Amino acid sequence: MSKTLFISDLHLQATEQKITDTFLRWLIEETPGSDAVYILGDLFEVWIGDDDNSAFNQKIIVALRALSDKRIPVFYIHGNRDFLLGEQFAKAAGITLLPEHIVIDLYGTPTLIMHGDTLCTLDIYYQRFREKVRTEKFTQSALSKPLWLRRLIAKLYRLQSRFFVSQKSPMIMDVAPETIRKMMEGYHVQHLIHGHTHRPAVHHLIINNKSATRTVLGSWEHRANMLVCTPTEQELVFFD
Ligand code: MN
Repeated sequence: MSKTLFISDLHLQATEQKITDTFLRWLIEETPGSDAVYILGDLFEVWIGDDDNSAFNQKIIVALRALSDKRIPVFYIHGNRDFLLGEQFAKAAGITLLPEHIVIDLYGTPTLIMHGDTLCTLDIYYQRFREKVRTEKFTQSALSKPLWLRRLIAKLYRLQSRFFVSQKSPMIMDVAPETIRKMMEGYHVQHLIHGHTHRPAVHHLIINNKSATRTVLGSWEHRANMLVCTPTEQELVFFD
């Protein structure tokens, strides 16, 4: 049976052994026979540059590489935590980096996929930050700093982000309905798949006077999950 798998927001890090093990097992057990695997961002809790040659990163690279070796294409959209992930990693892991928003042909159904942070337009502070860091200039200046300094800065960013997130209302950190409508109309799609908000669900809505769906992947911090799409159905599956 043909199937395409989507995951996001694993937030992998060396200290989260259980999630890492679940992911490595998932790669071996669930992906064989897939037409494609899509990782919609925040696979890593933080990515400070492809030159961060840690044993942990190597382990993930090797595990991903096994998929392309088995001719299972793996596609990757950056999240807000791992947007510095680059071509060097992609090449080593045998994956293909995609632009932030892209319409794919999912068994004949045009489907817009993205990480999802660009939908949270009510969070003006975050959108300003995003605009600043997702530039060639910021990327180059960040990656030119020594690894030890990047590690330190990443740690500070995370503390800062944790503080600001704790100050924000849940409404501000969720997607903005108006942005979803504009985005789906703009891309001429009735189906959207994204992650980021950690609020897994399948939402039914009306776009262009037609029924539409927005499927949200959940964070693996709460429970491992994936979206399984076949030519005839889609199911958000939770597992341990
Ligand atoms: Mn995210």
